[in-house]
Amino acid sequence: MPKMLAVQIPNAHGEFQIVEREIPEPGFGAVRLKVQACGICGSDRYAKEGLRPEITYPRVPGHEVAGVIDAIGPGVAGWEVGQHAGVGWHGGHCGYCNSCRRGDFVTCSIARQITGLTCDGGYTQYMVVSAAALAKIPDVLSDTEAAPLFCAGVTTFNGLRNSGARDGDLVAILGLGGLGHLGVQFAAKMGFETVGIARGKDKEPFARTLGAKHYIDSESQNPAAELEKLGGAKVILSTVTSGKAVQAVLGGLGINGRLILVGNPDQPLEVQGRLLIGGRRSISGWPSGSAIDSEDTLAFCALTGIRPMTEIYPLERASEAYDRMQSGKARFRVVLEIAK
Ligand SMILES: [Zn+2]
Ligand SMILES: [Zn+2]
Repeated sequence: MPKMLAVQIPNAHGEFQIVEREIPEPGFGAVRLKVQACGICGSDRYAKEGLRPEITYPRVPGHEVAGVIDAIGPGVAGWEVGQHAGVGWHGGHCGYCNSCRRGDFVTCSIARQITGLTCDGGYTQYMVVSAAALAKIPDVLSDTEAAPLFCAGVTTFNGLRNSGARDGDLVAILGLGGLGHLGVQFAAKMGFETVGIARGKDKEPFARTLGAKHYIDSESQNPAAELEKLGGAKVILSTVTSGKAVQAVLGGLGINGRLILVGNPDQPLEVQGRLLIGGRRSISGWPSGSAIDSEDTLAFCALTGIRPMTEIYPLERASEAYDRMQSGKARFRVVLEIAK
């Protein structure tokens, strides 16, 4: 049997292992990708540290996968060998639960697959993907550019395009990291009056380069008061994990304003009921998207020139690359380049 290199997590809290495995064969309804690049996401921690009950080990992590279709299993229509495609967090769905029957595959309640968690992901040379979870990659995007769009990209793009904000509305992006640097670009290209909020005055020129019309330094300024001065935000897309930082912007929501969490805050949020009631404000969240949402995200990037900023590592240095992502110092997404 032909072999491949993969990086696996042997058990919860285990160290990454580089192993030789047999190249998997695609079963019914699935294709095999020759993986070209895989982004490293903060949520890979769930697999690394065993933070979700559905994970079994050993597990190959990675849910920002760009590759080329290399083999097609039985029962697959609409895909060809040699096509450029990828997969994100959403790895498959049952097709018959109430969510699926409503076309809402991301909230599938019976057999939801999460790439790199419930099935093997992209820290490998080859992987099998459910055809229903597969998204096309436009030719103008390189593999290392495409990969991060399958999680960081689709999450921010989809959160914003479903936010209810309209052209010209004041939309703030809280945080300027892996998610936020994409969020600001999307918000600006979607035609929103875009506000970047981050810690430190030094990030202002960068935020403006990405397309922010306004910048708020949450260290020296009160972000809620500053947003209020601008008329109040229609949407605040929160990409940070600091619950305190999220708390500090809530008062900046305008009438009918909505805070959308795409980053998971490290503590429960406290909110005054009157803030929500009086101005019909709300707090919600947004969970990435399905295959067609990823495809829309990549097409929008191809159309507008939006690209993630990346740091590239080879597969063999996955452990170091993961630590780099965890350090919070990467600018801004760490990506494994597996083949060129
Ligand atoms: Zn992710
Ligand atoms: Zn379902």
